Amino acid sequence: MSQQQKPHITVLSSPGMGHVTPLIELARRLIVDHGFQVTVLAITTDAPPAQVQLLNNPSLPSDLHVVHLPQVDVSSTDSGDGPAGVVPRLLYIVQETLRSLRSVLISLQRPLSRALIVDPFCIEALETATDLSIPTYLFLTGSASFLALTMYFPTIHAAQVGRDYSNIGDKVCIPGCKPLWLDDLVPELLIPQLLNLSNRVPVLKGVLVNTWEELEPVTLSAFKENPFFLRVPSPPTYPIGPLTKIDTEPVASTESNLLKWLEKQPPESVVYVSFGSGGTLSAEQMTELAFGLELSGKRFLWVARPPSQANASASFFETGCDDARDPASFLPDGFLDRTRELGVVTLSWAPQVAVLRHPSVAGFVTHCGWNSVLESIVHGVAMITWPLYAEQKMNATMLVDEGVAVRIKKLQVEQDGKRIAGRREIETAVRMVMEGEEGKRMRQRARELQSSAVSALSHDGLSSGCLTRLGNKWRDGGTV
Ligand code: UDP
Repeated sequence: MSQQQKPHITVLSSPGMGHVTPLIELARRLIVDHGFQVTVLAITTDAPPAQVQLLNNPSLPSDLHVVHLPQVDVSSTDSGDGPAGVVPRLLYIVQETLRSLRSVLISLQRPLSRALIVDPFCIEALETATDLSIPTYLFLTGSASFLALTMYFPTIHAAQVGRDYSNIGDKVCIPGCKPLWLDDLVPELLIPQLLNLSNRVPVLKGVLVNTWEELEPVTLSAFKENPFFLRVPSPPTYPIGPLTKIDTEPVASTESNLLKWLEKQPPESVVYVSFGSGGTLSAEQMTELAFGLELSGKRFLWVARPPSQANASASFFETGCDDARDPASFLPDGFLDRTRELGVVTLSWAPQVAVLRHPSVAGFVTHCGWNSVLESIVHGVAMITWPLYAEQKMNATMLVDEGVAVRIKKLQVEQDGKRIAGRREIETAVRMVMEGEEGKRMRQRARELQSSAVSALSHDGLSSGCLTRLGNKWRDGGTV
């Protein structure tokens, strides 16, 4: 089939690996398994180096066309490492960039898109796409639980005075779903963003969710059966996951060195420590983590970013860069020497999927970003939860309830009144996952979920079936 004949889909992602990676994987599947051509509209302002590498990867299919949206001026905004963190800057970048969306969509030298698929930060593309008669779909790069919260949030919000949610008690009971702890919901800063998303969901043509039936059966059934979800105006939901990165070729020499180091370690002996693309610890917390790992006596591979007192996502826009700083300058004195035989520390970036896939890795200290969660599960690795921002606390609670993770307790008080995890709690959690019976059980449960993920994505699997139905609808205009 010629380029002009292949049906065309456009995807649009905000900057950052947590969104670009699953959207690229979705694009790849639409091309390889369903015969589409896909345009990826990339927001390049502040794009982290890892994103640039991903979009320039020569192994991407030839029917995937990357179009860079014009850069915008961000000089008037906070750099993202201030106390407000990354979100305001990200929203500003997206909002300014989307001013060019209409002309870019019109000028694409391809057949009109059968669908525009956007990530949650790009939801405001909906109006432009609707004007151009392009049906818009959301790809929720988080859990079905988060989608349930998004759909239910206007109900909670309408019942509150101002932003005081305390009168709803400890738990939020979304009809038909497992209760969520109020304390786990998104931080206050994200509430306007959540409402913005909630208000637009009913107008979408559908929501693709990066999850699968066996991981979130209760919530996914609620969408289909619970009177609340049947009553509220909501588009169909499509659990099409877990879509995770499959191309694991290390690109930098530091990355291949890490894999070479893993090769020399015994099976299931290493704990991998990483806080996603932006996660950043305070100096005190970094020190406790270093001592906790050392006290555990376990082998480790640690992606250790320079600390920040200001916010927990300070390195978001820098990930993947070769930071020239010496980790010895921010780790406890002598730590690197004392642990030379046990672990490796890398600045900024590791080939995470290749690390989690490696047989020597058995545990993952994670910030619980949804992609990290999925990558850990699809490789059968048990987790130690260390949520930092966004909806990560919700994810952490779900993992502990699922029996694939242990929570690190934050008992120690830092100078500025924040709670941090002390070295003894870290040591205990690492040991629990790496050596105890409980750790074995968690890994076993992770492997069960791993095989359910394989079957969801197999030819006859439920997630593949969902994507096939969507593909048929987009190709032939059929119903789903
Ligand atoms: N990642 C990686 N190497 C790193 C840190 C992160 O490859 O050192 C990748 C990770 O595999 C995942 C993504 O970056 O695909 C992070 O997404 P996630 O949803 O876990 O967290 P976020 O960065 O969005 O908070």
